[in-house]
Amino acid sequence: MATARHTVRRMKAFVMNGIGEVGFTEKEQPQAGPNDAILKPTKGLVCTSDVHTVHGAIGERENLTLGHEVVGVVDEVGAEVEHVQPGDRVAVGAITPDWSSEAAQRGFPSQSNGALGGWKFANVKDGVFQERVHVNDADGNLAKIPEAVSDEEAVYITDMMTTGFAGAEHAEIPLGGTVAVFAQGPVGLMATAGAKLRGAGEIIAIESVPERQKLSKNYGADHVIDYQDDDPVEKIHEVTDDEGVDSSIEALGTSQTFEQCVQATKPGGTISNVGYHGEGEHVNLPREAWGVGMAEKTIRTTLCPGGRVRLERMLRILENDGVDPTLMTTHTFPFDQVDEAFALMENKEDGVIKPLIEFE
Ligand SMILES: [Zn+2]
Repeated sequence: MATARHTVRRMKAFVMNGIGEVGFTEKEQPQAGPNDAILKPTKGLVCTSDVHTVHGAIGERENLTLGHEVVGVVDEVGAEVEHVQPGDRVAVGAITPDWSSEAAQRGFPSQSNGALGGWKFANVKDGVFQERVHVNDADGNLAKIPEAVSDEEAVYITDMMTTGFAGAEHAEIPLGGTVAVFAQGPVGLMATAGAKLRGAGEIIAIESVPERQKLSKNYGADHVIDYQDDDPVEKIHEVTDDEGVDSSIEALGTSQTFEQCVQATKPGGTISNVGYHGEGEHVNLPREAWGVGMAEKTIRTTLCPGGRVRLERMLRILENDGVDPTLMTTHTFPFDQVDEAFALMENKEDGVIKPLIEFE
């Protein structure tokens, strides 16, 4: 398929302009190289990690388009692209690895070209809150959305489902085993849903916000601990006859909840971290609960897995009604009000879980 001849077109973009500064601007539309695709977005979601980025968690950025969760229609493909063509409705992972990289070949595509290197959108290249989106390695990073799956459902696979589910997968939950999920934000909620799908016997969620507690039960939590009422580690020991849990999932990104995961997990168990530790110099390990280094507790860390095959699996779950992520959509904004959606996410106002962005 030949690449279309380009006239330079302008588009609207929502950008970071230095730490703490965001706003709309105009940019040139991106163009597709031989293996790339250009996407016309239809639905997107604002993510807390965008907020971390603007607050300086990954350093200074100038005129960088924000956003990394999007679905849309293929507008253009490069000459070498085979799996998708213009007009296809597709999802792109928040993480878009280089599939030929050394790390991808070793089985860690999200770490391609250095730590977290698969994370390109709104990090090392423009993100998705703009009217056209460039996707590298289109055959490896785009998945066609089945007819039975709506754009709003599908946009949740790009980060929330794939990350939350990976949290559960990497927690090595035994069938019928016990798992604690620390925090029920959107990633934590999907970790809860993932733990249920993975056959957990008892799921303990830690959360204080009533709407999130309720959703947590919807997604499979058997107990919800409000950390404002009870010490979560003590309560987990109480619920598990003083054994602790087989697995715990950290889905918040604070040193305190990470330590609680280690304390709540039994010897030989697994601590699965998907939280984004956006602040502070160190994440601490509680020495005694760590068995002074010998309790055979495994700690795994995960960055959102991307890739066509992974996304297709997520879509299959949606197609077969395995989970309904749209319960997490608390607000909807048109693209030209993405700044308001962003402010809402930043201030965690009005019971926000996920603000959905509609591009058309
Ligand atoms: Zn995200």
